[in-house]
Amino acid sequence: MSECLFCRIVAGEIPADLVAEGDDWVAFRDINPQAPTHVLIVPRRHIPTLDDLAPSDAALMGSLVAAAAQIARDEGLVEGGYRLAANCGAGAGQSVFHIHLHLLGGRRFSWPPG
Ligand code: AMP
Repeated sequence: MSECLFCRIVAGEIPADLVAEGDDWVAFRDINPQAPTHVLIVPRRHIPTLDDLAPSDAALMGSLVAAAAQIARDEGLVEGGYRLAANCGAGAGQSVFHIHLHLLGGRRFSWPPG
């Protein structure tokens, strides 16, 4: 059994509030939402950080971004705007070491981020 939290969610071993899924990815609601809509889009395959990506992962990451954009449309976030974020490494705030995109929407966002 994998010790990775998101691998276990992908495998259905830990429950999650699923939003959508594709051949290569799964999207579910963040357990500690930082905005009215906060969805995580994760690859099914375990990749610890963005720094572990290979050139051959370009299509996979494209499918994650396209999935996020479609979920943003489905959740009605486009008119108000939304943010797509990915933390790489503990210093940037990454706490789960399985690549994921944060899709945040439903409130105003400031820049620079904290
Ligand atoms: P990061 O800090 O960028 O690695 O993001 C990890 C995210 O995973 C955080 O926003 C957490 O709230 C979220 N998270 C942790 N455990 C769970 C879980 N069991 N289900 C859904 N989201 C989770």
